[in-house]
Amino acid sequence: MTVGLDRDRILQALDALALPDGAPLGRSGRVIGLNIEGGRISLAIRTAASEAAALETLRARTEMHLCALPGVEKALVVLTADTAAAAKAPPTLKTPSTPTPASKADPLASVGHVVAVASGKGGVGKSTTTVNLALALRAQGLRLGVLDADIYGPSLPTLLGLHGKPAAGAGRKLKPMQAYGISAMSMGLLVDPEAAMVWRGPMIMSAITQMMADVEWGALDVLLVDMPPGTGDAQLALAQGTRLAGAVIVSTPQDLSLIDARRGITMFRKVDVPILGMIENMAHFICPDCGGNHAIFGRGGAETEAARLGVPFLGAVPLTMELRAASDSGRPLLARDPDGPVGLVFQEIARRLRAGLDQRAAASAAHRATQ
Ligand code: ADP
Repeated sequence: MTVGLDRDRILQALDALALPDGAPLGRSGRVIGLNIEGGRISLAIRTAASEAAALETLRARTEMHLCALPGVEKALVVLTADTAAAAKAPPTLKTPSTPTPASKADPLASVGHVVAVASGKGGVGKSTTTVNLALALRAQGLRLGVLDADIYGPSLPTLLGLHGKPAAGAGRKLKPMQAYGISAMSMGLLVDPEAAMVWRGPMIMSAITQMMADVEWGALDVLLVDMPPGTGDAQLALAQGTRLAGAVIVSTPQDLSLIDARRGITMFRKVDVPILGMIENMAHFICPDCGGNHAIFGRGGAETEAARLGVPFLGAVPLTMELRAASDSGRPLLARDPDGPVGLVFQEIARRLRAGLDQRAAASAAHRATQ
C-alpha cells in the first residue's frame, strides 16, 4: 500500500537529514524532480560542482532514509548540477559531477524516438548490434544518432572509425561526430576510459545526462543509446531519467546470457519502459570455408525466451568473421555490404523495430486523443 506517500510527507521526512551547513534537506529548496510512482520515489539534490564529493554521503543516506519509509519499495536519488554553479562551469563534458537537472526542458525534444540498446552482461555484441542496426535504419531513410553510454567499455569510436575530439557548437554544446551518415557521441571521445572505470552510479548517470543534453543532436528520427551492460543503479537511473520510447535487449543464445537478459527486461519493466524486442546475437556460426551453418551455442534460445516473456523477437544475427573484422576495422558491415546475408538480417530487424515504434506511437496518440 502506498497510501499517504505524498510529496509533503516525503519532504517532511527529508528534514531529518541535514546539508553540510546544517539546513534540513526537505526545506532547503535543494530537492527537485521529486517523482512518486507507486512505491518508487526518485529525486535529485541540487549540488554545486565543488560540493559533489561531500554530498555523495548525503545522497546515499537519503536513499536509505526514503527506503525506510512505510510504503517505499525503491528510492533513487541523484546529485544534479546547481544551475548557478553550472553556468560558470567550462564548456566541457569532462566533469561527471555536474549533471543536467532532470527538470529542464526535454533536451531531446527534436528526437523522434530514444531507444535503449541493452544487455544483461558485457561482451554479447551489444555495441556491434547498435551500430549495424543504426546503419540499417539509416539505409531505410531515417535520420539516426547513436549515443555510446557504455562508459566502462566505450567502443563506438572503434566501431565507426572515429578519431579526434568533437567540435564545439553553439553555446556550451558539442557537435556530434559524423560517420556513415550517422551522428555519434561517445564517452570514449571525451574522457580517458580508465578514469571512467572508477565512476560510481551517480557520476555515470550525470555524465550520460550531459551527453544527451549538451550535444547538438538536431532533428533525428531515432537516437539509439548503447547502454552500459548490466542492471545496476546506473542502468536503472538511465532508464528512469530518459524519455525512452523503449528498449531493445541483445542476448547470445547461451543460458547464462539469457538469464542476464531476463534481468534486463525485468529492470525496464519496473520503470515502465516498453521492451521493443530481443535480438539474438552470435545465434549461429557461418563457416567461411564450407559456408556451413553451425549452432555453437544451441539454436533458438533467445527466440523461445522472447516468446515466453511476451516480448517481440526482432531477429537472429549470425557469428561471422566478416562482422567481427568489419567492426574492428572501423568500417561496419552494414556500411560495407548492406545487402549481403548479414546486412539483410539487420534490415529485417530494423523493419520490425520500426513497426514496433510506429505501433506504440499510434497507440499513445490515440490514448492522448481520448483524454
Ligand atoms: P558488447 O558491446 O556487448 O560488449 P561488442 O559489440 O563490443 O560487445 O562485441 C564484442 C566482440 O565480439 C567484438 O570484438 C565484436 O567484433 C565481436 N562480435 C560481436 N557480435 C559479433 C558477431 N555477430 N559475429 C562476430 N563477432 C561479433
